[in-house]
Amino acid sequence: MKRPAFANWLSDTNDITQTFLSAGQISGLINMAGGLPDPSTWPVSDLSDLAAAAVAQHPHEALAYAPIEGLPVLRDLIAQRFSVHGMRLTRENVLITTGGMQALDLIGKVLLEPGSLIAAQSPAYLGALDAWRPRQPIYRPMRLEANDFDPVTALTGVQFAYTVPNFSNPSGRLVSLAERQALVEAAHVTGTWLVEDDPYGTLYYDSAPLPRMLTLSAQRDEGLYDGPVIYMGTLSKELAPGLRIGWVVAAPNMITTLVTAKQGSDMSTSGLSQRIAHDSFASGLTDHVLPNILSLYRARRDALCAAMKAHLDDLFDWQVPSGGMFVWATARDASMNTDHLLREALFQGVCITPSSVFDPEGQNRRSIRINFTLNDPDKLAEGIRRLTVAARATIAK
Ligand code: PMP
Repeated sequence: MKRPAFANWLSDTNDITQTFLSAGQISGLINMAGGLPDPSTWPVSDLSDLAAAAVAQHPHEALAYAPIEGLPVLRDLIAQRFSVHGMRLTRENVLITTGGMQALDLIGKVLLEPGSLIAAQSPAYLGALDAWRPRQPIYRPMRLEANDFDPVTALTGVQFAYTVPNFSNPSGRLVSLAERQALVEAAHVTGTWLVEDDPYGTLYYDSAPLPRMLTLSAQRDEGLYDGPVIYMGTLSKELAPGLRIGWVVAAPNMITTLVTAKQGSDMSTSGLSQRIAHDSFASGLTDHVLPNILSLYRARRDALCAAMKAHLDDLFDWQVPSGGMFVWATARDASMNTDHLLREALFQGVCITPSSVFDPEGQNRRSIRINFTLNDPDKLAEGIRRLTVAARATIAK
């Protein structure tokens, strides 16, 4: 490990977000900061066969500008895949987006103006905060686990509510069935849009998935879905992020509004990627790779938590997440500043994400997000060993 190189690089960067986003480029550093899938999970040869077949057999779909709302075959397939438990969706309920990130961006474009209120699960996903920052919204944090949390009060008077119910980024928290039901009920009562951002919905390691809020909402009415949930999915975590395929499932009028915004954004999502996404679902490839992803990540989650128990137990509190990609740890010592910890950690050759970036006010300085999907168990253990040295050094200063 070349410590002077880390130190030189540190002095060149001041912005905390830039610090951890670009830290992965430093050689020898153990990067536990990002939310990246392990590249070994990508079915490279199957995807290259699908890409070649898409161009050869469907050149118009793959190579022309695609329809703004997405290829009809893919919209139909998503509608069918999400039509569970008596719920009925058609392609009018579906918009294909350029990753889940574009869905967040479009929501901001169509629903926010300066000073708009957002009720956001706290701590909140950095990408969403970044996407909405240009609109200068005001956040009303939602702490779903708090005893006095009242969903109707939380959703009253806001433009929309934002949640990541499955293994939230960054907290790794699973929103319970009762909490989902209460949020859906509140969205119907108040008429407030409820954004359900769900990149980790297939990554359950210990139990069967809970019902989506989209499904709970759709069960309340018969016929085509026309309710308040705006559901967002993506292929980034269950197939490959470079495809940049995401989707929104929502009421047809919301889809139409988002289509107009997408037209002024990128015209269309890559037809080639959409065709590959369609064929991956239709051929069973997406379902086929999932068990391997689950067993790999489950073992890594266990290795990380075992290393944390061995080294960090007296310094941090955390819950073992039952899915997703992250452990959220909070320092026992209230004076811990995890922005400072990040600098010490980089000096030791490990990168984690400090909680300040997940707080719209940048105030929360006591927690960290640790990713467990990118590194093998030995690297995770070494990363925690380095982090422990860094945490003790931070407290000593
Ligand atoms: N929402 C959340 C909560 C995420 O964690 C991510 C990925 N980090 C996204 C949306 C966007 O993912 P993508 O654009 O790769 O689909």
